[in-house]
Amino acid sequence: MVKHRGDGTGPDLPAEYFDTVIVGGGQAGLSVGYHLARLGRPFIILDEHQRTGDCWRERYDSLRLYSPARYDGLPGMPFPAPPSTFPSGHQMADYLESYATRMELPVASRVRVDGLWPTEGSRHSYLLTAGRRRFTAAQVVVATGGEQVPSVPSFAGQLDPGIRQLHSADYRNPSQLLPGGVLVVGASHSGADIALEVAREHRTWLSGPVRGQIPFDIEGRPARCIVPLLWFAANHILTVKTPLGRKMRPHIRGHGGPLLRVKLPHLAAAGVEYVNARTAGARDGRPVLDDGRALDVTNVIWSTGFRPDFSWIHLPVIGDDGWPLQDRGVAASAPGLYFTGLLFQHAFSSMLVGGVGRDARYVARHIAAHRQAGHTPPRQAEPAAMTNPPAA
Ligand SMILES: Cc1cc2nc3c(=O)[nH]c(=O)nc-3n(C[C@H](O)[C@H](O)[C@H](O)COP(=O)(O)OP(=O)(O)OC[C@H]3O[C@@H](n4cnc5c(N)ncnc54)[C@H](O)[C@@H]3O)c2cc1C
Repeated sequence: MVKHRGDGTGPDLPAEYFDTVIVGGGQAGLSVGYHLARLGRPFIILDEHQRTGDCWRERYDSLRLYSPARYDGLPGMPFPAPPSTFPSGHQMADYLESYATRMELPVASRVRVDGLWPTEGSRHSYLLTAGRRRFTAAQVVVATGGEQVPSVPSFAGQLDPGIRQLHSADYRNPSQLLPGGVLVVGASHSGADIALEVAREHRTWLSGPVRGQIPFDIEGRPARCIVPLLWFAANHILTVKTPLGRKMRPHIRGHGGPLLRVKLPHLAAAGVEYVNARTAGARDGRPVLDDGRALDVTNVIWSTGFRPDFSWIHLPVIGDDGWPLQDRGVAASAPGLYFTGLLFQHAFSSMLVGGVGRDARYVARHIAAHRQAGHTPPRQAEPAAMTNPPAA
């Protein structure tokens, strides 16, 4: 996880005006940028990382995508690999970096936005703060990703301090672990990947309910026929427009997805002890399963997902479930504010590399139409007043 924050010392710098500011330069932000550029709309992308693609570089070293290269391209540039192969996380990172370069997208790196505020006097304008830096914009697109704050249960603090605890977001490879047993908590995609990897050197348990397993080998020949059907469903059937999609959305947002590449038979063959029980608490400093067993491990890897955090957005656009109130990325109660890349934003595919482009195009077109409709705020360097001014 990125630790860098803007330089918060010293007086605020004069605000820089941009027609549209995109917060986040991952696949979602880059895709919006691509479509805005095609529509001739000026914009800037602000990202906290040093290099485009870093959020993929920071994931575990052995990560290979579960989507084949055919579905790993952004608008206007296919992923440069045979369509039925599966890129590594680092290849995806490099692809995003070369995409930003090829498409000449203006990305300002090492800028962490820490506040988004409405401005008074020009109803459709926003102020963004990033340490001492300030940006004003007529439109803001929030593309900060689906993985924001790592979720860890509260009893994690009751485990023995001698147990090494890592969230899957911080796990890179087995060299981070202490000798001894490993409990991986959370049997979703990354939990299964990590358990398989660490089981080579450690006695390993994987705990938690499995939310289904794809009943075929995603790298096998039959997958070449089946995956296009699933891709169609992910784009056109599992959407907020269908009862099935609406039923699925909270599950996808609240729990992990099904096992895709690494499934229970692979884990069993590798010696992973899968326990269909949750890790429910701590006893004498050791993790306890809800079947009553306490596990004698020296490492716990929390593969327990993430929770959304939009607390830096000082606008009434976040629902009771913590997710933004939006329709196809458009926040109706805050004209000019948009979201892209939310988990199941419009469809299952919204959160996938190959699916985000459709949502990005919708948002970019809405921005262009919004501007044509005459929402033209004054191009002043500093807003006259803010409804909730942040402390200088
Ligand atoms: C382990 C794992 C494996 C995955 N495998 C696949 C796969 O195989 N296929 C697939 O299609 N999808 C996969 N995904 C899902 C999805 O494609 C990725 O999560 C992807 O990174 C989401 O892209 P994004 O642009 O929405 O968000 P991100 O990639 O998270 O990019 C958001 C960017 O915004 C930056 N940012 C956040 N907050 C701020 C701020 N306040 N100010 C400035 N910058 C900010 C972040 O640092 C980041 O650079 C996987 C996800 C995970 C976690």
